Amino acid sequence: MIDYRFEPGPVHLVRLARGADLYDGLTDYARRHDIRAASLTFLGAVRRASLRYYDQEERRYVDFAIDEHLEVVAGVGNISLLDGAPFLHAHAAFADADGRAFGGHLNSGTEVFALEATIWQLSGKAPVRAPDDCTGLTLWGGTLSGP
Ligand code: ZN
Repeated sequence: MIDYRFEPGPVHLVRLARGADLYDGLTDYARRHDIRAASLTFLGAVRRASLRYYDQEERRYVDFAIDEHLEVVAGVGNISLLDGAPFLHAHAAFADADGRAFGGHLNSGTEVFALEATIWQLSGKAPVRAPDDCTGLTLWGGTLSGP
C-alpha cells in the first residue's frame, strides 16, 4: 500500500468554454496554476466523448469515441506528477438521450458543450507516477511488491 497525507488547499471552481477539449482544458488549468496534487469532480454536457479502456490481459489501452451529444453524468479524477508535470487521471460516465450510460478513462478529444469542475487542491508532497510492473500502468509510487 502507498498512501499520502495532505492538508486541504484552495478549492477551484472551473468552467470550460463550449468547444474546449475536456481533458486538455483541465490539464492546462492544472499546469497554469501549478496544481500538483488534487482530487476533482466534473459534470456538464459534451458534443462527443473520447475514452479509453485498459485491456488488463493485453496491457494496453483501447481507444473509442462516442460521436453524439451526451450528458456528463459523473466525472472523477486526480492530479499528481508525471515526468515532473501535473498530470490528470480522470474517468467519466456519459449518458445519451435515452439515459443509456457509457464510460471509461477520459482521453483527449472530448468536446465540451458545457462543463463545470471542482478541483480540491491539496498541500503536501505531490504523488509521483512511475511504471508499475504488476499492471503495466503508470501509478503512484511505481511497482508495489506483494498484495
Ligand atoms: Zn484510468
